Amino acid sequence: MERTLTTQSLEKVGQKIKLQGWLASIRDHGKISFIDLRDRQGVIQCVGQNLPKVSTESVVEIEGMVAKRPANLVNKNITTGEIEVQIAKLTILSLAQELPFQVDGDGYELGEEVKLKYRYLDLRRARLQRNLRVRSDYVQAAREYLFSKDFVEIETPLLTKSTPEGSRDFIVPSRLNPGKFFALPQSPQQYKQLLMSAGFERYFQIAKCLRDEDPRADRGFEHSQIDLEMSFVTREEVMKVVEEMTVFALEKIGAKIVKKPFPILTHKEVMETYGSDKFDLRTDAEKKEKGLAFAWIIDFPFFEKEAEGAWTFTHNPFSQPVPEHESWLMKKEKIGEILTSQYDLVCNGLEVAGGSIRSNKPEVLKCVFEILGYKDEEIENKFGHMLTAFKLGTPPHGGCAQGFERLLMANFGEEYLREVQAFPQTGRGRTSVMDAPSEVDAKLLTELGIKVVEK
Ligand code: ASP
Repeated sequence: MERTLTTQSLEKVGQKIKLQGWLASIRDHGKISFIDLRDRQGVIQCVGQNLPKVSTESVVEIEGMVAKRPANLVNKNITTGEIEVQIAKLTILSLAQELPFQVDGDGYELGEEVKLKYRYLDLRRARLQRNLRVRSDYVQAAREYLFSKDFVEIETPLLTKSTPEGSRDFIVPSRLNPGKFFALPQSPQQYKQLLMSAGFERYFQIAKCLRDEDPRADRGFEHSQIDLEMSFVTREEVMKVVEEMTVFALEKIGAKIVKKPFPILTHKEVMETYGSDKFDLRTDAEKKEKGLAFAWIIDFPFFEKEAEGAWTFTHNPFSQPVPEHESWLMKKEKIGEILTSQYDLVCNGLEVAGGSIRSNKPEVLKCVFEILGYKDEEIENKFGHMLTAFKLGTPPHGGCAQGFERLLMANFGEEYLREVQAFPQTGRGRTSVMDAPSEVDAKLLTELGIKVVEK
């Protein structure tokens, strides 16, 4: 007999079916027992007599007849509440020992360490099942939108060279080049620009970004972005694509967007009005309704002074300044007043996307690095490949990356990024389930030419 899923059972009243899934709960009433069986679609009540002893969260197979429940026993809280399955046979497929915690509630009260150690159990709870399934729907809808606009999905390497995104790199030693290291990408920034040089014109990728930063509620070592880049575009055109994609994908998952089109504010206005560029536009009523309020911010300063007095970039060194300020940049004057073509998207107080029009003129990009204090040799070493590409026919281009996990966090009213990730790191920067970082074989270290010293 073929397997029937819980909600499919609704169409099989009076028929014999086979169900497979987890035993979410058992209620023994003397000889009669009630079982809630859970599968990927939901739960269904099964009832039987003299059943074998079986613990909750065991995986079972049930054969039985689908019957309508009497009107007074209908359970309106579940989709299959009008029916139940009269068990003829129960087979245990995998017996569960006692679980370290229950998986029926939301689980917010449980400690992070234990939940992430047994993340596969934690993920069984309805809330996390929903978060990850809706995440998948969101990504699918974003892809659908981008494909409809002629984008090509292209993967870029994970083993790469450091690209400055303002964070610390994770590095990977090279066995074939002892003493040399790859960097894991903080973003695909340079590769996606090189894809514009290659003539793809419209690229996107669901990209993993790895940044060695101190973990925070809305930030981990790894996060995923919908990363895109376009040739022959203005700032407004890129913003439009990102906005349309966001609205399309959010509405597909049933989210409510408070204001469309998204308001556009300058950085100066925002700082004067809200005192922060991660502000929340929602009214109290809108907060209660769980609406999402977006706003674009433009006209950020390109550079800011570090504590030591050196200039650093506020967002992305590959950005072009606004056209009116290009001459200041080239003359290295009024540096603090130069505005960048950067645009950031905020939603309910979170930064959820950011991008810019890039400088495709090698002399402009070089000038940025000079302002940042790089010597010629260092510029050549670190970014020579970009300057070369820009001398070999690279169209004007710009792009954006959306940290859609933060957007989903806002949508679900979740407080932590990990609630929308399958296997997140702990707050102390360790992996879920598998115990990493961990020691490696001494032999491997020798091969890599690495000696570990006490700090
Ligand atoms: N690379 C940038 C980031 O990760 C996004 C972009 O400018 O496209 O924030």
